[in-house]
Amino acid sequence: MTVTLHFHGAAGTVTGSCYRVEHPGGQFLVDCGLFQGNRSVRALNLKPTPFDPKAIDFLLLTHAHIDHVGLLPKLYAEGWRGPAWMTEPTSGLLEYMLPDSAGIQESEAERAGRRGDEPVKPLYGMADAEEALRHRQTCAYEQWIEPAPGVRARYWNAGHIIGSASIEVEVMDGDKPVRLMFSGDIGPDEKVFYGNPEGAAGFDYILCESTYGGRERDDYTLLQRREALRVEINTALARGGNLVIPTFAVERSQELLHDIGFLIKSGAINPQLVFLDSPLASKVTGVYRKYARMFEDVELGADELFNDPRFRIIESVADSQAINAIRGGAIIMSASGMCDAGRIKHHLRANLIRRDATVLFVGYQAPGTLGHVILTGAKQARIHGRLVPIRATIRALGNYSAHADHSELMAWIKARLPAHGAIFLTHGEDEERMALRDALMATGIAADQLVLPQLDDYFELTAIGIAGKAQPATRRIDPHQVHTDWHNEFSDFTIRLSQQLQALGDEEKLAMMQALQQQLSALGAPSSPGHRRTPITPVETQSLDE
Ligand SMILES: [Zn+2]
Repeated sequence: MTVTLHFHGAAGTVTGSCYRVEHPGGQFLVDCGLFQGNRSVRALNLKPTPFDPKAIDFLLLTHAHIDHVGLLPKLYAEGWRGPAWMTEPTSGLLEYMLPDSAGIQESEAERAGRRGDEPVKPLYGMADAEEALRHRQTCAYEQWIEPAPGVRARYWNAGHIIGSASIEVEVMDGDKPVRLMFSGDIGPDEKVFYGNPEGAAGFDYILCESTYGGRERDDYTLLQRREALRVEINTALARGGNLVIPTFAVERSQELLHDIGFLIKSGAINPQLVFLDSPLASKVTGVYRKYARMFEDVELGADELFNDPRFRIIESVADSQAINAIRGGAIIMSASGMCDAGRIKHHLRANLIRRDATVLFVGYQAPGTLGHVILTGAKQARIHGRLVPIRATIRALGNYSAHADHSELMAWIKARLPAHGAIFLTHGEDEERMALRDALMATGIAADQLVLPQLDDYFELTAIGIAGKAQPATRRIDPHQVHTDWHNEFSDFTIRLSQQLQALGDEEKLAMMQALQQQLSALGAPSSPGHRRTPITPVETQSLDE
């Protein structure tokens, strides 16, 4: 009997992290994440779980991001009742993130049900999320735990988000341990709340994420980042309007709030009010306050953290809507970070039309999202069914990141060496993990020791090396579909077409549509039945004008 390592997610994609380890005494999982991205990738969530959940003894969780934990409630929905181990802050975050994810699953199913005739069952519901929460087990950093006979594990700070960990695991194979290191997601150096990522050295197998393989960020220190934020805030407020910042509820909101608090305290900026408007971000901010004692940045204690008198952390809908009446001097942070859902939409609707307002992006905007439309220079955007002209100044800051870049990933791996058996590169698209593999080969690591597993591949491991490999074809996904599938292209195309048409006068619009119809007919598409010159109603923007 050997130890077998299965890759059930984040193998050729950056989401759906899930590793399964079979050993002589049983089996366990490391992470159980939701697949996120385009429809082809998301479809993997609905496929049957590729193992029997009831055979799993326990789960080790690296951190609370949904692409690492979002399929946990599905396991409980399928009848699993085992314990899930995690750090205390991760447990604190899950209390809000799993019910939030269940709410999204339920409303997506309801919407899909309305579109078709059949009721659609959600991937999981609130009761499954609550069941998952009942089975949380917490552990401290750098302390060995023994979750089952023959297995011990130790959590190390990964510096990615609050509570995030790399997990070191020892699995007994006969009288010899096989030693593995699961990186989880690794944070950058110079993060506000945490020290640099840590871990032991010397393993049989290292599994490392490769999200930013081959890509270097500008080398921003904490001081430089705050300086860039200071300039953006002061320039925006000098225009006289509000500054709207779309932000992710976990980590980015708290980092910004902390940096803004720091800048106010030092007299560098002078906003009238600072809003964090998101029920989830508000709850998550409470978790950060609770575990403030764990932070490296000790200049503020728990009582002072996020506690400036100008801060308003908003939960109620009425309070959120009341912000729309404020014409200038306020910083408004709200989720979602890519503007495709949540309260940020009504703040954009109120502020995009104002010439003195500014929208500042501080995170990646995926193609097809409202954030991407605004960031790429559209003259108008559709929000809540209405076309909103964009007159505000649009800005972006690229120096906030929760992920290590190429050099930082290389540094993390080098500090964990040697790896006697192999290094598995996961949690990255193929281009990124190949860049990381090439860089590792250039340091003298043999090519056959660097493995890029595909979805559901599994490997028989011994302490001295890989004894066997199998590639079941159960849930193959075409690598080029991971990055973009026709749905992305379609949404991009329709957005560009709509922008093109909106920019034209009524007569020109009709002429262009007729020309396009002729081309479609030439390609064999049926002509539209109402091919008449009906007058087109002008777009409804008047009521939104100031
Ligand atoms: Zn993460």
